[in-house]
Amino acid sequence: MPQIIDGKLISTQIKEELKEKVAALKAEGTSICLAVIQVGNDPASSVYVNNKKKACAYIGIESLSYELPEDTTQEELLSLIGELNDRKDVNGILVQLPVPKHIDEDAIIKAIDPKKDVDGFHPQSVGTLCIGQPGFVSCTPAGIIQLLKRSGIEIAGKECVVIGRSNIVGKPMALLLLRENGTVTVAHSRTKDLKEVTKRADILVVAVGKPKMITREYVKEGAVVIDVGIHRNEANKLCGDVDYDDVAPVCSAITPVPGGVGPMTIAMLMHNCVESAALNR
Ligand code: NAD
Repeated sequence: MPQIIDGKLISTQIKEELKEKVAALKAEGTSICLAVIQVGNDPASSVYVNNKKKACAYIGIESLSYELPEDTTQEELLSLIGELNDRKDVNGILVQLPVPKHIDEDAIIKAIDPKKDVDGFHPQSVGTLCIGQPGFVSCTPAGIIQLLKRSGIEIAGKECVVIGRSNIVGKPMALLLLRENGTVTVAHSRTKDLKEVTKRADILVVAVGKPKMITREYVKEGAVVIDVGIHRNEANKLCGDVDYDDVAPVCSAITPVPGGVGPMTIAMLMHNCVESAALNR
């Protein structure tokens, strides 16, 4: 049987470590505050925002909540971000994506002060990641590196294949694996003979956004498989991009869905908030 990589357990360990750090910072007189902005009331976004606020409360980070109506203009949103950029008591700013269609997402991401960009989506954060300098890293891929390291899985020298090239998951994932000295290949929708590419992987990260697409034909015997996908199936149960039951018997380690990559995203957001306090001191 493969090693089941327990994201719930690892994310709890990280949150406990952060809780101690936050308490120590508070004792020195430094408190941490995250501003969370949601435009409109998309139910999935509301769930994510609430989970983020709950995690803040658990760790001891203050959160300011801005629930703006669907018809908020881009100028109004930019003006709020400007105010929060200027506030000394706000360390991190998070705008829950997606924003309504009449708002230019790129303009919003670029408006956040890179020192408060706890999501790691600002071009400056992406640039620092690319050239290996300190900066905020997108939470889901950063969480995957933690899952691998804390599960004792060596990355250096390994063949790493990432399926997906989104700005939020695939591209930063590839850069992080490279930073950890993996030999990295990025596969995507235009890759020819995907199976031939993925079968090279010692570590296969799947962020393809298609339920259960990856079956054992895509996986080398003994590979480590990280499933980023989150979907609800016909029975309203959560599943990933990987067909877990089919793939688990052939790999050496695998993340389940739920309880794998998912819980790590919020843990790493909290990590970035704690980092932001140090940056903004
Ligand atoms: P996306 O749709 O932006 O990107 C999907 C990528 O897959 C694209 O780059 C595309 O080129 C590639 N792709 C599509 N079809 C392909 C095919 N047939 N063969 C090879 N490549 C193909 O998605 P995303 O935002 O990167 O998210 C991916 C998945 O991860 C989704 O299921 C999403 O819900 C999930 N997700 C989970 C978390 C988490 O916290 N666990 C966070 C972000 C995203």
